[in-house]
Order: sequence, then structure tokens, then C-alpha cells
Amino acid sequence: MSKTITPADVAARKAALIERGKAHKILSECAEARRRDRANTLTVVSAIESSSTGALRAEVQSSKGGKVYTVTFDPPKNGRIRGFSCNCRDHRDRGVVCKHMLAVSHRFVAQKRDEYKLLVDLEKLFFA
Ligand SMILES: [Zn+2]
Repeated sequence: MSKTITPADVAARKAALIERGKAHKILSECAEARRRDRANTLTVVSAIESSSTGALRAEVQSSKGGKVYTVTFDPPKNGRIRGFSCNCRDHRDRGVVCKHMLAVSHRFVAQKRDEYKLLVDLEKLFFA
């Protein structure tokens, strides 16, 4: 099965990636600097983005290495982060943006930069 990619598909995906980038900025600004630093040391074990809902689900190794936490993000829309969760105590008990969320969000946005560039090239090549 193949599906024709339309200009609208490309534009929609670009918009979704821009939203993720904005959401990441907001999350980062909410977090304390030391939490951001710690997030950079964590290992994101897996990350799956649902192609139908755009929801992101990832697993992150705990800083001590023994546990794996599950982070989920609903796709952000109109500059708003609609839903996110982590099953660590920091988020569960204190409701803060935890280092696991920051790690997932940062990794995702960094990885999707290449996809974004590809979409821009696609537009130039085929839809200009
Ligand atoms: Zn957490």
C-alpha cells in the first residue's frame, strides 16, 4: 500500500513539529536549571510516537539506573501543552516537570530537526 503525500500532509506535519518545539521550550523554562542539567545525563530507552494520535510514549532510565520510568505526552496544540505524565515520584507527588519529561522532550525535538529539514526540502522540490 502506498499513499500519496500531499502538500497539506507536509504542512500539517511541519506544524506538528513546530508545536513540539514550542512545547519543549515551555517545559524547559518551567524547570529548575539543575533539573535540566540532570535531564541531559539520562538515557531515553525507547520512544514511540503514535501515527494516528500523535501521542508520544517513552521510557527513561532512572538516574541511579535501576528503574525505568514511563513518560507520555499528548500532542501540543496552539502553543499549549495539553497532557503529560511520568510515573516517577517527583512528578506524581509534587506535580513538577520532572527530569524524565525534560529528557524525552529534548531528545524528541533534537531528533525531529532532521525530519523538519527533510519536509522543508520536500516542499521545495515537489510543491514549490
Ligand atoms: Zn519523572
